[in-house]
Amino acid sequence: MEHINVTDCKTALNRLMAGNKEYLIAKEGKGDISEEIRILTHEYGQKPYAIVIACSDSRVIPEKIFMVGIGEIFTIRVAGNVIGDFELGSIEYAAGHLGVKLIMVMGHSRCGAVDAAIHDAGHDSIIHITDEIKKAIGAETDPVCCEKKNILYSMERIKKSPLLQPSIKNGSLKIVGAYYHTRSGEVELLEEE
Ligand SMILES: [Zn+2]
Repeated sequence: MEHINVTDCKTALNRLMAGNKEYLIAKEGKGDISEEIRILTHEYGQKPYAIVIACSDSRVIPEKIFMVGIGEIFTIRVAGNVIGDFELGSIEYAAGHLGVKLIMVMGHSRCGAVDAAIHDAGHDSIIHITDEIKKAIGAETDPVCCEKKNILYSMERIKKSPLLQPSIKNGSLKIVGAYYHTRSGEVELLEEE
């Protein structure tokens, strides 16, 4: 048994989107969670081909949405898919040390964190998240528009990483924005600016 060999960002993205297509009509999950893959990744390490930054929302489960198993995607989940120092450090680790080729920031419909930011409802520690989202959305109040602006804002924060910039510039590392529709299950890729 060997690791899944994905050597470029296009193949990584195609794998994820093909998995999402299967997910739309699936009745149960798919993805290798066998003893063999556990042993392989334990003994020889992980070799994920994509980083997915998603919201912690219990309806947004990247491994299910893309029908992937152990060792395939390096997932970072935080309410509102915001990027702070810990998230950026995790991304830099996966891209810089594990050789991941694709970074996907995946926001979603009916996001409670974005809704809280729109209505200025942040309090206690939640305010760290809503303040970050407020920077992304400005005066916009339409939920879908805000959710998409928030994805683009997180992408911009990642692109500012000095460690990642050379690989992004030479095309060996790609960042994409994605919007998960919580009703249909569809992952919509956002147009690049
Ligand atoms: Zn959310």
